[in-house]
Amino acid sequence: LTIGQQLAETTERFGDNEALVDVPAGRRWTYDELLQDVRRLASGLLELGLRKGDRVGIWAPNRWEWFLTQFATAEVGLVLVNINPSYRVHELEYALVKSEVRCVIAATEFKDSKYAEMLEEVMPRCDDLEKVVLMESDDFAALMRTEISPELPAIAASLTQHDPINIQYTSGTTGFPKGATLSHRNILNNGYFVGETIHYTDADRVCTPVPFYHCFGMVMGNLAVISHGACTVIPGPAFKPDEALKAVESEKCTSLYGVPTMFIAELALPDFESYDLSTLRTGIMAGSPCPAEIMRKVIDRMHMEEVSICYGMTETSPVSMQTRPDDSLERRVGTVGRALPHVEVKVVDPTTGDPVPRGEVGEFCTRGYSVMLGYWNDEEKTTEAIDADGWMHTGDLAVMDEDGYAQITGRIKDMVIRGGENIYPREIEEFLYTHPDIVDAQVVGVPDPKYGEELMAWVKLRDGVSDLTEEQVREFSEGKLSRHKIPRYVHVVDEFPMTVTGKVRKVDMRAQAVEMLG
Ligand code: ATP
Ligand code: MG
Repeated sequence: LTIGQQLAETTERFGDNEALVDVPAGRRWTYDELLQDVRRLASGLLELGLRKGDRVGIWAPNRWEWFLTQFATAEVGLVLVNINPSYRVHELEYALVKSEVRCVIAATEFKDSKYAEMLEEVMPRCDDLEKVVLMESDDFAALMRTEISPELPAIAASLTQHDPINIQYTSGTTGFPKGATLSHRNILNNGYFVGETIHYTDADRVCTPVPFYHCFGMVMGNLAVISHGACTVIPGPAFKPDEALKAVESEKCTSLYGVPTMFIAELALPDFESYDLSTLRTGIMAGSPCPAEIMRKVIDRMHMEEVSICYGMTETSPVSMQTRPDDSLERRVGTVGRALPHVEVKVVDPTTGDPVPRGEVGEFCTRGYSVMLGYWNDEEKTTEAIDADGWMHTGDLAVMDEDGYAQITGRIKDMVIRGGENIYPREIEEFLYTHPDIVDAQVVGVPDPKYGEELMAWVKLRDGVSDLTEEQVREFSEGKLSRHKIPRYVHVVDEFPMTVTGKVRKVDMRAQAVEMLG
């Protein structure tokens, strides 16, 4: 199916069902209404002169216009280019030029980002960029009022599931974000199977505080939802823990999404107990290592008995591994589950490329329908990532057991080698979470003349506790962690350096650590 065919099919079956709620905007759509508005917007885009294959940028936080634009562009085969809401002029220009974007649909501003002004500034330097449509403007309202074009059925018939439909950028956790080109087949199927795994039906209402600009929101969220006749609830433009829980309560959501740090923030709300979360059944935690402690709390304290962990990357649509609600509790909190249907996975020795025995650490590789078409206009990076046999090399380290359940032990780039011993920061972080005063912990390697690298733990402390010394951490760890794994340095912070998708930028932590240590 193409995304347009899927939306039409769902609308035929569940036309009266609610499809989208934008809480702060106070607006809601049934599938019937959504399909009409999507087709109007798609027709408006045609009137701007845009045609199949043209790139349309979207630059805004989560709001209903984003959702409608996602489906309107797919309806007529335009390639949606997701632009990171936190970009500044330089990155914006790079993304627009690199993807040869012809039109950008943008919010006028968000927080301290003046999108309209930045677009005006870069426009003369972006040769392909002809049109900027601001969501708050009459231009956008006019697009939404367009008569549905009689050409739509013919255009829909000319599309295939293999057409590129989306350029999604990676989070930029390890460096500059890369643009993955994805087809209908890639992302629609992935969204569908993610939804299947957590048993979505047309009764589900999914609270999505993760950004639409990223695959978590637009695929595991929006596409999983529309392939099951369920409903997307937008709690706010960007993540706020209280807003997310308020939306769950008022919209009676059955599912809640987040990267681990979001769940940590929700659980830490002083008035956490006052939210009625009893409608929750499931949800997804993904995007970075999901601490077992936090998973347990989400299951026990947030009513999310069937919550699932996903593992994946933008380049693979994104999900390749997922826990099932009927897996054992131990696996549901301690692994990323097993492969999704029609996805092949293997764990290899990164130097030889040969599969390692089960139970040993190696690089996680995946193959199948979900592997991207390639990095946009970047043959070289594409062939570095996808080998001649079609395997995507993820750069992540994993251990797989006999039954195919995997644990992600970290990124190859984050592994610390101290005195010749490999240390996976993940393991130390999991341990630090058991300290009563620590709410969040991140561990990086810092250069050391004697051992090559030493461990530095960055910790966030619970309310009311202001300090935690290296001495205290050592005492707490002794006898529980082997000596070489006890962090040499402890650094107390209020916030970690983060990407807009809520991931901790360990590259920045390492750079700051080097400065701190002189
Ligand atoms: P960049 O590639 O630009 O450095 P990124 O890899 O963070 O950024 P994404 O595609 O958003 O960009 O994220 C994919 C990565 O997130 C995976 O390669 C993996 O390292 C991490 N990840 C995703 N889910 C999980 C999970 N459940 N457990 C551990 N790590 C995860
Ligand atoms: Mg990556």
